[in-house]
Amino acid sequence: MILPIIAYGDTVLRKKATDIDKDYPNLDQLIANMFDTMYNASGVGLAAPQIGLPIRLFVIDATPFADDEDLSEEDKAVLKGLKKVFINAKVINEEGDEWAFNEGCLSIPDIREDIFRHEFVEIEYLDEKFEKHREKFSGLSARVIQHEYDHIEGILFTDKLSSLKKRLIKGKLNNISKGNIKINYRMRFPEIKKSR
Ligand SMILES: [Zn+2]
Repeated sequence: MILPIIAYGDTVLRKKATDIDKDYPNLDQLIANMFDTMYNASGVGLAAPQIGLPIRLFVIDATPFADDEDLSEEDKAVLKGLKKVFINAKVINEEGDEWAFNEGCLSIPDIREDIFRHEFVEIEYLDEKFEKHREKFSGLSARVIQHEYDHIEGILFTDKLSSLKKRLIKGKLNNISKGNIKINYRMRFPEIKKSR
């Protein structure tokens, strides 16, 4: 089932999300719905706060990035298989040079900006079967995970912009929270309080 994506401006996107346990109601269905919602909006990641739930859960599928011709065959192979569920994730370490990548966010449509992040991230998380993993990711794989991880910490990519850039996009952000944007997927806007 495709759920409405919560737009910029809603307080749920600003909460530090909380851990869940195995008994979380209808978790399998929720995860399936999150993947449906993400694919429908052509996204590569979606975090639970973006569908209105302040819990530590996010899903990713980086397969679309594997089409990037500039990548090595090895990187492409990693990205192609990178469909994962992260529950109760905790970043252990981030390292390596910071590099810029033009990021976007399903909650902030039509805004894309170059964002600097570390090359590597090491993260501990539970998968959909509640099995524990500790893994290190690099490059674009790390990038997708870092962006989604920020969501469960209440952080948006626009927070990382310079104050000048923030001023420049302020009007656009206001329009998003009011629903004054054209989008081709379901969203819910904090200042309208209904879906469309
Ligand atoms: Zn996002």
